[in-house]
Amino acid sequence: MRTVSRFVRFLKNRVRIGVQETGVASCRQVRDKKMGTVVEQTPYQCDRCGATNIVAASVIYQQGTHTYSTRFNSGTSQTFSAEAAEPPRPRGYLRPVLLWGPAIVIFSAWTIAGFSSILEHPTTTALHVESPVIFLFLGISSFAGMVFGLRKIARYNREVYPHLRWNWEHTYICRRCGRFRLIHS
Ligand SMILES: [Zn+2]
Repeated sequence: MRTVSRFVRFLKNRVRIGVQETGVASCRQVRDKKMGTVVEQTPYQCDRCGATNIVAASVIYQQGTHTYSTRFNSGTSQTFSAEAAEPPRPRGYLRPVLLWGPAIVIFSAWTIAGFSSILEHPTTTALHVESPVIFLFLGISSFAGMVFGLRKIARYNREVYPHLRWNWEHTYICRRCGRFRLIHS
């Protein structure tokens, strides 16, 4: 009976030592804290649904975009998610040329025709000197409009597009809920 109670006391002491052993306790605490921070800081996790199944936008785009060619036609097919994950593209310079080009050509032609008509038949021509001057002014304005448009596109491609591209390269998409997320690493 006495030996049993001594044994029990021995066990109690051991338990107390185990609990009070600061090394073990602090060690466990550190481990818990570390695990906690790992869970919080993992960037490759959806911040809406918590799923870790998130994939780079470029991967989704590549996986969902297929080029095909049959005997009759060819092209690309895209899944809905690939369409959403489409990379930004630099702007083309064709639009301002198509928009202003015809006006420049027409006004230049009228300017030349007007001035040559006045120079060739200074007395009999129905045209006044003002008319070709107005055409010249309109031609120059159209040219200025085209240059302005081209410069605007150049500025976009130089300053805005690289940022959009960088963002796209660092965008990740959750496969579970579809949330887009920017990860700066
Ligand atoms: Zn999600």
